[in-house]
Amino acid sequence: MATVTLSQLLGQPEVTAFLRGIVARQRYANAYLFHGPAGVGKGTAAIAFARAALCERVPGAATFTQRGQAEPSLFGDAPASPPGPAGDDACDECASCTKTARLLHVDLKLLFPISGPGGESDADETVGETLQQMRDDPLFTFQYDKAASIRLSQTRELQRELAFRPYEAARRVVVVRDCDRMREDQYSALLKSIEEPAATTVWVLTTARPARVPATIRSRCQRVRFAPLSEALVLRFLTGRAGVPEREARVLAALAGGSPGRALALRGGEALKRRDAAIALLAPALSGDAPGMWQAVQRFMNFGRTGREEMRRAIEYHLLWLRDVLRVRYGAGGDLLAFADREQELRALAARLDAVEVRRRLMVLEEALRSIDGNVSADLTFFSTLSRVAGSRMGEGRWPAHGTARWDY
Ligand SMILES: [Zn+2]
Repeated sequence: MATVTLSQLLGQPEVTAFLRGIVARQRYANAYLFHGPAGVGKGTAAIAFARAALCERVPGAATFTQRGQAEPSLFGDAPASPPGPAGDDACDECASCTKTARLLHVDLKLLFPISGPGGESDADETVGETLQQMRDDPLFTFQYDKAASIRLSQTRELQRELAFRPYEAARRVVVVRDCDRMREDQYSALLKSIEEPAATTVWVLTTARPARVPATIRSRCQRVRFAPLSEALVLRFLTGRAGVPEREARVLAALAGGSPGRALALRGGEALKRRDAAIALLAPALSGDAPGMWQAVQRFMNFGRTGREEMRRAIEYHLLWLRDVLRVRYGAGGDLLAFADREQELRALAARLDAVEVRRRLMVLEEALRSIDGNVSADLTFFSTLSRVAGSRMGEGRWPAHGTARWDY
């Protein structure tokens, strides 16, 4: 995970402008809730925001140590160090920024869920290891199991520290990653701190599942919404910063649904293998072979061992596959396809299938995705519902453009 500055965040121009405005004015709320899809940069932004809040050179952000060590200036009250260029972001040079870049600043606290059984004994070790990975690997992405949670030992230790003033900076910043993974008593302690008047702690909570965060917490946070990135931006990130080969990057970007984090998690050749298995599932459906389809589904479900996440991924591969069929049909070249390596098959299908029929199938798949995790945007849901009501009268002449990656068919 790269520790960057607000100006270096990928996409999210509105979020960046909003956060920089806060830094420039030096007026912090007690708590912020960064919400939006997983892997779009909420955690990275939270740390970038914390770095700006702790930077010594942002005007008005005088630190205790600076005040203590300030030497009399020849020109009266001239600042000890020049402010950053615009005063609304971390300078990335001062002592504080050096520490926050390595996640070693005493006034920057990070809480994140830990996978594995709920035992507390190994939690410290796991936290240490994870922090080290975050420092060493600029492409580190958090991945944890279903039951992962923020442990009691983590919040207890933090609570002890909150009783004291910040050590070095004018404020303390606590970043709580995936804050929906806490227990009731942890939320109560958090709430108490958020409600404290004249607090010196700024909380930055992130979540991809805001509905699971207690309403009492949500209502006391300033909400900051993160959107999925464009497929083109994810592709640029993969081939640029992440150094993923073009062909794989294209598949990953198409599959990532606007989430660089998700694209990174799928890296390593596995994506192509899974895709081929998923597409094989689709063959009996496309040829109307009911017994073959039933067998394929049984094999795929593996006696109920196949989880939601795998089902979702398979359906996403189907969506991309059919989307490519449409693209080919409308004359797109190989460089515009997610699955350019299977262009010949796509061309054969495109010649055989009716475009309206392909769209109908895409809608069915979208609906299935929604019923699996409800992660598709509301406007898409509504549009899809109306389209199904319209049925065969949906023409193919004009199809509305849509901002999200999944919706250019
Ligand atoms: Zn700085």
